Amino acid sequence: MRASVLSGPGVCSVQDVPAPAAAGGEVVVDVERVGVCGTDVEFFTGEMAYLHDGHAHFPMQLGHEWAGTVSAVGDGVDPGWIGRRVMGDTMLGDGTCRRCLRGHQHVCEYRTEVGIRGGRPGALAEQLAVPATSLHELPDSVDAVLGALVEPGGNSWRAAQAADLRPGDRALILGPGTIGLLTAMFAQAAGAEVHLMGRSESSLAFARSIGFTNAWTEDELPDLPYDAVIDASNAAPLPAKALHLVEPAGRVVYIGLAGSPSEIDTRRLALKDVTAVGILSASPGLDATIAAYASGAVDPRPLVAATVGLDQVGAVLAGKPLPGAGPGPKIHIDPRL
Ligand SMILES: [Zn+2]
Repeated sequence: MRASVLSGPGVCSVQDVPAPAAAGGEVVVDVERVGVCGTDVEFFTGEMAYLHDGHAHFPMQLGHEWAGTVSAVGDGVDPGWIGRRVMGDTMLGDGTCRRCLRGHQHVCEYRTEVGIRGGRPGALAEQLAVPATSLHELPDSVDAVLGALVEPGGNSWRAAQAADLRPGDRALILGPGTIGLLTAMFAQAAGAEVHLMGRSESSLAFARSIGFTNAWTEDELPDLPYDAVIDASNAAPLPAKALHLVEPAGRVVYIGLAGSPSEIDTRRLALKDVTAVGILSASPGLDATIAAYASGAVDPRPLVAATVGLDQVGAVLAGKPLPGAGPGPKIHIDPRL
């Protein structure tokens, strides 16, 4: 089968690799749509921390935001899965350790991550093998585009949940990338007045074009009480800025990761009586995200700027402009193109 293989920093090509077989407990999925995200770009540039602490090695097969149809099952897996449309959890805990047994498999010390950690091949290929226990079935109303947006959506749903928004609350989201915009959509669906802060005029213009009229640069940001501030940026100073901007007794949510330490003053946290929450992974938010997409409460499809084939993955990871691409922040890959 054809797969996109990242052989080293900046070296990405389509290769013929052996198709995966369904091992015991696993299924093989025919991949229909895959999102490319910032983590993938960090692997392409060689900056990703897992490359440096031994959790990941080249060559790699990236891709952890995916949707497809189950085409084979291994021993011990219900054959009823065959033909079902699914997405899958990126995080694959070992299922036996204390954290896993307490329901926190997404932070299992021994976990692999699809297309990211522990040598588990990702979805940028015609087929993908994953444990059946990681699957989430997609209803008919959640198409492949939405299905490949469930993983980033799950992260964002959790960020919006952590902000504990009630109707009429004012939420400020720092960073209008895919995660920031998805979080804005979930915050709006929760009844909050949503503001976004960003750096590039084009990303702010895109946010406005999909209905987030309160999209500001740092200089323009109105001096208003923000009940929750969610940092979805990769800028090291913004976690402290979030704590500075939030109302006393409010919430700050940290989902963005900067390339260098981003420190906060816990005296300010205590003196403002602020609740701070960190978010890693979509796992506990996948079902709620599928439900929100299925009901139409949130429709993130405008975020997808272009859908291209596996041969374009290198160009996408390198940030090259794609002919005919729209203004959204997300690029999708269709391995069948
Ligand atoms: Zn575990």
